[in-house]
Amino acid sequence: MKKIANQLLKGYLLNLGLIICLAVVLYLSYNHYMNSQLDEYELDVTQIMADYLRDNTSLEELKIGQNDFILVTDKNMNILDVKNKTLDEHKTLIDYQLETSDGGSHSYYVFETQDGRYLFHLFLGFYLEDIRIIYILVISALILFIVFAFLHARRTSQTIVTPIHKLVSGVQEMQKGNYNIHIDYETNTELDEIKNAIHQLNHSLAQETEHRQRLESERNELILSLSHDIKTPLTNIIGYAQSLSMKTLEPEIRQSIDTIYKYGLIATHLTDELFDFAKMDQNDLFITEQTDIVEATKVKLTDYIVEFDTLQIQYDFIFPEKQIYCQLHLMNYLRVLDNLIQNAIKYNQPPIKIKFQIIELDQHVQIIVEDDGIGIPLNYHSTIFDPMIRVENSRNRALGGTGLGLSIAKKIMIKHQGNITLDPNHQKGCRFILEIPKS
Ligand code: ADP
Repeated sequence: MKKIANQLLKGYLLNLGLIICLAVVLYLSYNHYMNSQLDEYELDVTQIMADYLRDNTSLEELKIGQNDFILVTDKNMNILDVKNKTLDEHKTLIDYQLETSDGGSHSYYVFETQDGRYLFHLFLGFYLEDIRIIYILVISALILFIVFAFLHARRTSQTIVTPIHKLVSGVQEMQKGNYNIHIDYETNTELDEIKNAIHQLNHSLAQETEHRQRLESERNELILSLSHDIKTPLTNIIGYAQSLSMKTLEPEIRQSIDTIYKYGLIATHLTDELFDFAKMDQNDLFITEQTDIVEATKVKLTDYIVEFDTLQIQYDFIFPEKQIYCQLHLMNYLRVLDNLIQNAIKYNQPPIKIKFQIIELDQHVQIIVEDDGIGIPLNYHSTIFDPMIRVENSRNRALGGTGLGLSIAKKIMIKHQGNITLDPNHQKGCRFILEIPKS
């Protein structure tokens, strides 16, 4: 199995190789160019040297470029003659050499006459046209290097970055609960091992989820059939207790019959709630209808006005003056409202105030039910929508309750593609926020 490190190393070595090749090509081209220039002048210089020696003439004849110049010196470097520069008695060879660094580059060659009396110092100047060739070479080398670097980056991206993206999106899918993923790439690196490990994890999670779902559905089936089966004997017990209580009985027996009747009703309520809770998890069709949620909520709350007045509960309704349509399973939506209102009444001592508000948002509508009662302690907030969770205090114990109401409400809201939450920032009492998508 290839290692990512090997691949990267290969890339770096290829880059280094390319840089060296480019440098060598540049150097060779430059040298070749310089030599070709020199070849062009060398004959002339030799000839001129000969003429110069023979006739002691000037350097007029010598054909050199306008940026080139020649200095003739004796062995002691005293300047004797100059071409393409003005002869200045005060300047030394070094001064002329220094001048060449102004605004361009020069190559410097020295030719010695056969008798060793004169030295011809030839300066080939590379300005403008001449130097352009060097620029062209350097720029082409750079372009070549950039193209290579780009191709190399693309290849690295294909072998490393693209697989990493695929891994990340695969893991994100798993996070969403979709275990039907297939991460598709082949790199021959450690990334393949990660991919295989994720596939294995995905497989075990899929099995685990399937197993859990099967257990849940079996548990639901059990709850459904148990609550159904218990319901018939319970109805009989309540019925018999009721008919017995109509007879003339000794006070002790009447008290016992009343207790049987009372607990029979509590047990019936519990089995009903358990049945509803388990039923919510069944994949039965949840048929919703386009409904004006403002109107439906108003009608429901009107039913409570007499009860509110009797119990001296203040109420406040803040509703928008318009219709807002949502896909509602009306009966279940009203059941959630009932549960929240009855909880507010049941778990708080009057005087309390209940406030109902409907807020229209971009995509959703919020229905807020808040009271200023005792509230739910913060440490219960994360689990209050789980089944069988009740706030433990003496009053609640006396009230009984199944602890299923809010968990059923949550299931109903989720079936509406919405949600129910308990506002942790509400100062006094409970503030439940229902959210439903608008249609
Ligand atoms: P139940 O069906 O037994 O009423 P719920 O699931 O509806 O149970 O409520 C869970 C617990 O939350 C209750 O035991 C109660 O302590 C608490 N609770 C719910 N609503 C309120 C409220 N408005 N004010 C105070 N406590 C509440």
